[in-house]
Amino acid sequence: RLIAAAPGSSREEALERALRPKKLADYVGQQKIRAQLEIFIEAAKARHESLDHVLLFGPPGLGKTTLAHILAHEMGVNLRQTSGPVLERAGDLAAMLTNLEPNDVLFIDEIHRLSPVVEEILYPALEDFQIDIMIGEGPSARSVKLDLPPFTLVGATTRAGMLTNPLRDRFGITARLEFYTPEELSLIVHRSAHLLNCDIVDDGAAEIAKRSRGTPRIANRLLRRVRDFAEVKADGKITRAVADAALTMLDVDHLGLDVMDRKLLLAMLEKFSGGPVGVDNLAAAIGEARDTIEDVLEPYLIQQGYLQRTPRGRIATPAIWRHFGLDSPDKPSA
Ligand code: ADP
Repeated sequence: RLIAAAPGSSREEALERALRPKKLADYVGQQKIRAQLEIFIEAAKARHESLDHVLLFGPPGLGKTTLAHILAHEMGVNLRQTSGPVLERAGDLAAMLTNLEPNDVLFIDEIHRLSPVVEEILYPALEDFQIDIMIGEGPSARSVKLDLPPFTLVGATTRAGMLTNPLRDRFGITARLEFYTPEELSLIVHRSAHLLNCDIVDDGAAEIAKRSRGTPRIANRLLRRVRDFAEVKADGKITRAVADAALTMLDVDHLGLDVMDRKLLLAMLEKFSGGPVGVDNLAAAIGEARDTIEDVLEPYLIQQGYLQRTPRGRIATPAIWRHFGLDSPDKPSA
């Protein structure tokens, strides 16, 4: 197979890190969020204070981790990174918090997956920069209050609705990341191509951008695969024709839908007559986890108007019946 480095592999992650912009000015798109953060950063720096806690939410690959790193960089502080499922015991979080330096950024990815005991510790830490830790066991155990340096928590989650209310209320800044436009993704592809030393024309970048599901991580991944194709099958230059041939070979269709998207949509059309169908039934039909459908697949399909979420279940829109060349059952066939 052409896909040399699977998503999530350490090589893929290293490449991703290399392509990450380090400054707010290099972060493409998300204008509103960027403009707000610029002001909050400048104000916090002028007061020599830590930045308020920031909650970032949006589908995977839209730049939450990148933004957390940029915030730390712009504030001139360290970033410590962990994730909800990794922090199993209260002591895991206490250890991280007590190791922070003043105004550092603590980045917790998948913050909706924190265990309740860890979340309890976090509340006073966020509010008063204090934690209560238990020392000893049994009858002689006692609780000790520890002061923490002021710090900024940056939490990332795919869906804000999965956070408990008390946790959500403790973030002063909440930002919802949007899917990127093809123009914004084109800029990202050009920038990455430059960093990867690869030759690409505007049309080639636009083709990759258009077929990247509005997502920078996917754009960068496709660029690397298209580059392989261009080096082997063409003279190395990524033109529109080369990008189209490579993407078609990678099973990314003209709407930018990949194998998983098509599997989901075709199951809706063929097994459930276009819906409405409940997400659990869909998950069973395609053998995917419900969370994958809700966090990874659906958001883009909904944003593009291919799928609708209704109280009775998911419905395929006429656009998607047409895309697959099928007649919607509501319409008399021609
Ligand atoms: P998330 O944490 O939301 O899953 P990441 O921050 O890891 O997403 O972003 C994935 C990749 O996409 C990064 O390697 C980065 O290079 C790229 N990227 C994300 N957002 C942007 C952006 N606004 N501008 C340029 N590149 C971006």
